[in-house]
Amino acid sequence: MGKISVYRFLSAGCNGCDVEVLECLAPRYKLADLGVEVVEKPEEANVLIVTGGGNIKGKEHLLKIYEAINPPKIVIAIGNCALTKEIFDKGYPMIGPPDQIIPVNYYVPGCPPRPQAIVKAVADILGAGIKEAEDYWQAPEGYRGKHEFDSEKCIGCGACAQICTADAIDIIDGPDRRIVRVNYGHCSFCAFCQDECPTQALRLTREYHLATRDRQTARVINEVNLLNCALCGGVFFPERQIDWALKRITMEKVPAYGEFSGEILNAMKICAKCRRNIGNIREAKRLLSKLSEKVR
Ligand code: SF4
Ligand code: SF4
Repeated sequence: MGKISVYRFLSAGCNGCDVEVLECLAPRYKLADLGVEVVEKPEEANVLIVTGGGNIKGKEHLLKIYEAINPPKIVIAIGNCALTKEIFDKGYPMIGPPDQIIPVNYYVPGCPPRPQAIVKAVADILGAGIKEAEDYWQAPEGYRGKHEFDSEKCIGCGACAQICTADAIDIIDGPDRRIVRVNYGHCSFCAFCQDECPTQALRLTREYHLATRDRQTARVINEVNLLNCALCGGVFFPERQIDWALKRITMEKVPAYGEFSGEILNAMKICAKCRRNIGNIREAKRLLSKLSEKVR
């Protein structure tokens, strides 16, 4: 498309993304060099930039603005509230995200997105190239962007999901696999998950170009195998987590237990339900020796 005239609308958010949008207009970020102008009235715009999660009070206003903008009526949702409502998700006046109210064409995840991410997303929409030096794009040391799993290290323990106050990580158990899914469109990029991970399997990279046409793709996943209970056969625990725990017990914590590692491993392969059904120590011992014979 040719020249784009942008009208901005904040629909319930903290204002952080709105500030980043304005920053894009500063000479340093050169959004204006792409032929983009920000206009005062929706009737003068052909692109609408929406930030915020979308609330009851702003609904009519947002609908009127969308009605008023000119074709091709492109809507860009900037920031994670505009993708998923993020931290405002459970707020009683929230009815968004904005694509529940008006059609949205592009999403730019982030909390808030870097100005460069917004500029690149707009340039991509325009089909324009940006010739900028490497340092224009470089994120500073310690910047927290898209997550990355080390699938060799992840044991599927779910500690990352438990610590995440934004509910951005799902643990989904299938018939034989556990999926650990980071929905970074819900994320505030606090890095608590990275700090909590016992195996340093999860880290936040410096990648911040996350624009997408489909907000369901704002995800990173890892899969681990689940183990069947040695008694009832039901799926209950990640295989790697058991190996990891066994190594910690027998190698780091109590090396003297090393020679009993087989028995310990067998005990760990019994699910909580079956363990509760074991009546006494004598029965537990009998079951464990039976299991040892089975694996021999
Ligand atoms: S990423 Fe780390 S904390 Fe999360 S499930 Fe994997 S091992 Fe556990
Ligand atoms: S960085 Fe990790 S813990 Fe923090 S909000 Fe995002 S997914 Fe949750």
